[in-house]
Amino acid sequence: MTEALHQVTILGATGSIGQSTLDVLSRHPEKFALFAVSANTHVDKMLEICQQHTPRYAVMADIASAEILSEKLGAKSQTTVLGGAAALQQIASDDEVDSVMAAIVGAVGLMPTLAAVRAGKHVLLANKEALVMAGDLFMQEVRQHNALLLPIDSEHNAIFQCLPADYPQGLKSKGVTRILLTGSGGPFRQLPLDQFDAITPEQAIAHPNWSMGPKISVDSATMMNKGLELIEACFLFDVPQQDVEIVLHPQSIIHSMVAYNDGSVLAQMGQPDMRTPIANALGWPERIVSGVEPLNLIEVSQLNFAAADEKRFPCLRLARQAIQRGGSCMAILNAANEVAVQSFLAHKIAFTRIAEIIESTMNMVESHRADNLQIILQDDQAARACATALTEQ
Ligand code: NDP
Ligand code: MG
Repeated sequence: MTEALHQVTILGATGSIGQSTLDVLSRHPEKFALFAVSANTHVDKMLEICQQHTPRYAVMADIASAEILSEKLGAKSQTTVLGGAAALQQIASDDEVDSVMAAIVGAVGLMPTLAAVRAGKHVLLANKEALVMAGDLFMQEVRQHNALLLPIDSEHNAIFQCLPADYPQGLKSKGVTRILLTGSGGPFRQLPLDQFDAITPEQAIAHPNWSMGPKISVDSATMMNKGLELIEACFLFDVPQQDVEIVLHPQSIIHSMVAYNDGSVLAQMGQPDMRTPIANALGWPERIVSGVEPLNLIEVSQLNFAAADEKRFPCLRLARQAIQRGGSCMAILNAANEVAVQSFLAHKIAFTRIAEIIESTMNMVESHRADNLQIILQDDQAARACATALTEQ
């Protein structure tokens, strides 16, 4: 008897992670079927995906875009088009779905990702902002609904691969002493500090090693991405922030490491290509082909490491501060960052204003215990309003 195909939903299919996921899936038609895909407004890209991969459902979060897509696909299409936020939750939690790739960018990804968690799916988590803003609650729901959370962020996927399978019983009891979270340092690792004010969005999104969507590319340039990843690691692996060390590693070949009490340090290495963590999570616990070129260490020849400089990258300090303050402060940090990055991408504020706006927002908006979703969403909104006002000053 042949095994039933594993049904996959991709939230954020038109994005950088979404496209890489489609690439890996298309290498394994005997294993996976595409149940549903989603996007926001990019109708033409979605049309292409539907024509090439014939998912059962295509959801456009933007309702007007759903109507246009439906028209373009025509009545004979095998894909049913839906629109709006509720449809995102529907395709994330449908009974027929096995795995959900959560690859919407930003806080808007929280509710559909939570819907997948609450339906007990395999949740392949790229959307780090969802975990950053509601970490405690998110992990509680994962346990309560027996969902399987598989990290896609390359660092967290690397850590996941370097940990023993029974790590949820507690890292200390497994002999883990430290997590070494690596980061390339982005395009401005060595730029003189007096030139930071003149950085343009075009320079900021040109990452030296990774090809990614615009928001995470700017986050990498400010190193807020590493700050968000620090928070992500604390929640995913239940470790205090003191046990997570950020290590600059400009080649992006080691994707993170785990240190043990016998002095061993395990590292996961590979090309900087997101298809590796995506294939790791899709195939887990088995290994499947990803399409990524083999790593040639002779060609790489050098692996360098350095400490991260919080003067150059104040967002790292702000992320550590948000963890210390706890509760909804992490949602406030995340929301202020989203607003500031959008504003920078729209050429409205200077690069150095991003960290300043986040810091002011964290000082102006009161945080609360984050034990209920309503409070988190309220504080997220308050932070957005505050940060927006600051960008207009
Ligand atoms: P992209 O900007 O490339 O793609 C974002 C996706 O989200 C698109 O499909 C977009 O649809 C959709 N989207 C945007 N806004 C909304 C909305 N309001 N409602 C519903 N859908 C929306 O981002 P990335 O693929 O780079 O990143 C996705 C997530 O993965 C982020 O959280 C990022 O931090 C994380 N990540 C990404 C990595 C990478 O290499 N790119 C690495 C590690 C983590 P549309 O095209 O229609 O706008
Ligand atoms: Mg990462």
